Amino acid sequence: MFYLRILLVAIMLVNSAYAKPSKKTHADNAGEQRKIIVAVDHVLDANRDFVKRHSKSYFLPFIKGQTPKATVLGCADSRVHSHAIDPHPDGDLFFVRNIGNQIVPVRGSIEYGVRHLHTPLLLVLGHTMCGAVRAAMQSYSEMSPAIKTELDNMHVPHGDPDNVSLVLDSVEHNINHQIDEAMNLFADELKQQKLIVIGAVYDFRNDYHQGYGRLVIINVNGSNDVVKIKESLSFSRKKSLNDVFIKK
Ligand SMILES: [Zn+2]
Repeated sequence: MFYLRILLVAIMLVNSAYAKPSKKTHADNAGEQRKIIVAVDHVLDANRDFVKRHSKSYFLPFIKGQTPKATVLGCADSRVHSHAIDPHPDGDLFFVRNIGNQIVPVRGSIEYGVRHLHTPLLLVLGHTMCGAVRAAMQSYSEMSPAIKTELDNMHVPHGDPDNVSLVLDSVEHNINHQIDEAMNLFADELKQQKLIVIGAVYDFRNDYHQGYGRLVIINVNGSNDVVKIKESLSFSRKKSLNDVFIKK
């Protein structure tokens, strides 16, 4: 760890020597470099602790390959993580992420999860107050070409990005749109009943008033109809649906 820190400081010194002159003060640069050190330490220290806490037996099931239970298409937002839907996600979830949980930029990865790893569930996982959705609700012509291209995939209606109700509508609109793409892509798997596609909103803000962290089901196999969703989930789930929140 000590040598890594020395290497990091050396890289930062070289970078600053070649950097273009800027109006930033020495204090600004020192603050930014401190943030880099904190971030790198956070990751490296966490991994050191992870290695300490996990013996070889923990990794043995993963060495030969993977048989995940689900392909998950989630937003890259740092507030959305796999432990919200799986306490031990290692080996369980084939998790693909990008801003706004869009299928087009990662179509190959999603196909890999469904067709090569044969996951029977594709979960499109949006979340409340999604920054990508809020960006797509406004004019985003000033964004970089790469970001604009991704926001173009979301097809959300324009509106006030600070209006919680409108943002929820747009988050759901985006999930429904991504599921339409998935329904086309995996029409054969769906027809053969090899796959179920679920769209859900992870609500870490309690915007749906169903509890902080609730998974709110809004779409199953392309349908938003609550009766059809219940039918599909009753068929797929052994347990009662009493503890599942389906958006009406
Ligand atoms: Zn998001």
